[in-house]
Amino acid sequence: MWCTIWAIYHLENRDYAREGFIIMHFAFLAIGFATPLKYHIVLHALLMANIIVSNMWNHYEYYTIMLALAIPLYIGVVIMLWILENSYADQYLVKKQLEISSVSDELTGVNNRYIINEIIDQSTDKFSLQKDIVVLMFDIDFFKKVNDTYGHEAGDEILKYVSAKIKSHLSKDDYIIRWGGEEFIVILVDYAIDNALELAEKLRSDVENSNNGICPITISMGLCKYNKNETYHQCVDKADKALYYAKNHGRNQIINYNDL
Ligand code: GH3
Ligand code: MG
Ligand code: MG
Repeated sequence: MWCTIWAIYHLENRDYAREGFIIMHFAFLAIGFATPLKYHIVLHALLMANIIVSNMWNHYEYYTIMLALAIPLYIGVVIMLWILENSYADQYLVKKQLEISSVSDELTGVNNRYIINEIIDQSTDKFSLQKDIVVLMFDIDFFKKVNDTYGHEAGDEILKYVSAKIKSHLSKDDYIIRWGGEEFIVILVDYAIDNALELAEKLRSDVENSNNGICPITISMGLCKYNKNETYHQCVDKADKALYYAKNHGRNQIINYNDL
């Protein structure tokens, strides 16, 4: 802005200064629609202040026309932005928030089981993701004892801690879902079974060896590679059976359904 004013000061012919400022106003108009109202009020007002101040020595030939254009434009954009922010933007944010909370678990912040509707084909109940999928189901071992010994609130803290810990190992394409109570499902997207088993072992040992601030805990896991001919229920059931086996054979371990 001040470079332009400086250039105008040195120009002998200022015939196009008016057009230059009009172009600059349009640039501010575009920026204005991309910034929150309060920034726009300050930025665009500064542009006008610059015209008024620089006129003291540039003496624009079309000074009054420039202001006659700038002031209504400024007021118009402020009104438009105010309307946008108070109607459409608010509605949009509320809608987005509702969309997020409808698939989020309130306690842990990870997905709840409704997220599954977004990743399956509802007419066939198959995963719609065209990648290799591994379903992993895990459950905290002896969690009732944790609640009984340390209280329900401490139990809640552990649920938050474990879900955050597991999530920290996943990529943005994977899903962690609180399936119910202290039972979770992890959907690994684009994973070969060996890589999934390796990751599962990392998750298990990280939960076992990290300090959650309350008491040591472990998790048991059942894992199943998704077969594209089956529904997601069938795959989840197999992971559940593998988890059941892990629980009945010592806990704190991972069982692959295909090894049963
Ligand atoms: P197992 O090793 O066989 O899994 O033993 P367990 O004691 O963990 O048994 P189970 O999985 O059946 O226990 C579920 C417990 O989880 C019972 C319930 O009180 C507790 N629980 C479920 N949801 C919540 C919750 O939101 N907060 C807390 N604090 N506890 C929960
Ligand atoms: Mg349990
Ligand atoms: Mg359970």
